[in-house]
Amino acid sequence: MTEYLTTIGLEVHAQARTASKMFDACSADYAGGDPNSRTSVVSLGLPGSLPVVNRRAIEMAALSGLAINCTINLHSIFARKSYIYPDLPKGYQITQYDQPLCSDGWIEIQGDDGNPKRVGIERLHIEEDTGRLVHAGDGTSLVDYNRSGVPLMEIVSAPDIASPEEARRYFQKLRQILMWIGVNNGDMEHGELRCDANVSIRPATQQEYGVKVEIKNMNSFRAVERALAYEVERQIKALQAGERIIQETRGWNEALGKTVGQRSKEFAHDYRYFPEPDIPPLMLDEEWLAARKAELPELPDARRVRFETAYGLSTQDAELLTSERPIADYYEVAVTKAQAVNGSAKDVANWVVGELFRLLNESGAPTDSMATRLPPQHIAELLDLLAKGSITRTVAKQVFEESFRSGGKPAQIVADKGLTQISDTDALTTLAREVIAKNPKPVTEYRNGKTSAIQFLVGQIMKATRGQANPQTARSVLETELQNDGEA
Ligand code: MN
Repeated sequence: MTEYLTTIGLEVHAQARTASKMFDACSADYAGGDPNSRTSVVSLGLPGSLPVVNRRAIEMAALSGLAINCTINLHSIFARKSYIYPDLPKGYQITQYDQPLCSDGWIEIQGDDGNPKRVGIERLHIEEDTGRLVHAGDGTSLVDYNRSGVPLMEIVSAPDIASPEEARRYFQKLRQILMWIGVNNGDMEHGELRCDANVSIRPATQQEYGVKVEIKNMNSFRAVERALAYEVERQIKALQAGERIIQETRGWNEALGKTVGQRSKEFAHDYRYFPEPDIPPLMLDEEWLAARKAELPELPDARRVRFETAYGLSTQDAELLTSERPIADYYEVAVTKAQAVNGSAKDVANWVVGELFRLLNESGAPTDSMATRLPPQHIAELLDLLAKGSITRTVAKQVFEESFRSGGKPAQIVADKGLTQISDTDALTTLAREVIAKNPKPVTEYRNGKTSAIQFLVGQIMKATRGQANPQTARSVLETELQNDGEA
């Protein structure tokens, strides 16, 4: 049986979240108005209109390039890529070709063997987005040019990805980084982050790459993994049946769960690239580049490692807490506040990863609303109440949830609802006697030497006090009462 190697490269298009479009002052908020309400002579490509480069888009692209370890080229060139399609009013797209803004980077992912693996980035270049075709149910198609001219970053990986799972992890990592540095909102459903893949297979004994097929229309991480897995299987079966792989573009059909041939692949020369005559070469200097480097925040991997070492977190918790920047920022504010009242960084991590994530998930609240839903100060307050013995852990969970829902301060909730821990021995002794009287079976078991039966009785006291009884005190009064009664 022949063994096959898989080679995958991804081309990701990410919109840069600027206020205006790539080449003029037209609003880039293309979803914020009626179709064709966000257009201009430049974004419609009317004759005689001249493009002017968006400074912030270049800054964001360079920032992205730095975040994925690219070289930022201080001299780069815009180019025209010519093709005809109704969503492209000029008949060409302004992009970059042989001299892109960023080149030769990498990002680290977890490889299929479980070890860290670097995936090379060949380039990151800047270009303009196209308009959108809206296909109506009656067979007609409409065109909306609102998106026409929105800044895009195209990020092309090296063919370093060896499986559909690695492709998914690469894309996830790239999305995490772009969202983290605030240049893209990560919305794949609405196409603000898009992914195409080139995939080929070859027998393990063969040196040169096989014929590559391009896959388009994958709108989720799951779709990327499924489409590539399907395509690898399809190509292997074709080779085994003695067929040849055709270089082509195939679309992923989510409903059918298969890729479908769309058109034979075009080659670079078909696009008749040439330098854009209306835009001078982009000349940047070292001072400008230093400012971009200064703008780059601590990135998720570095922050994850720091969380592990500085706060003693497990890798898993550190990963969860650095999955998105608002979460990491929230966590660190909560730690600072908790440490001021003898709460530990680990306690904060447990509450955030456990309770807060659950509540956010259930309520569908976005992570950047964490700090308003439950101010970090409230976690510190809760930990303080626990440390002082004012509330039990069971009550703390209720208070946490109540604080999340109502916005109330934990101490106030405890006071209003009378949730203070009951450590009073007399009160608990009375309860213990009732519980012993009502539960003869575990009582007998306990007295016959099955000491673990006391757990059930402690539980009954907790239940009777709605979680407010001090569990240690409850246990010790029970032990005393069980002995007393046994002797009587
Ligand atoms: Mn492109």
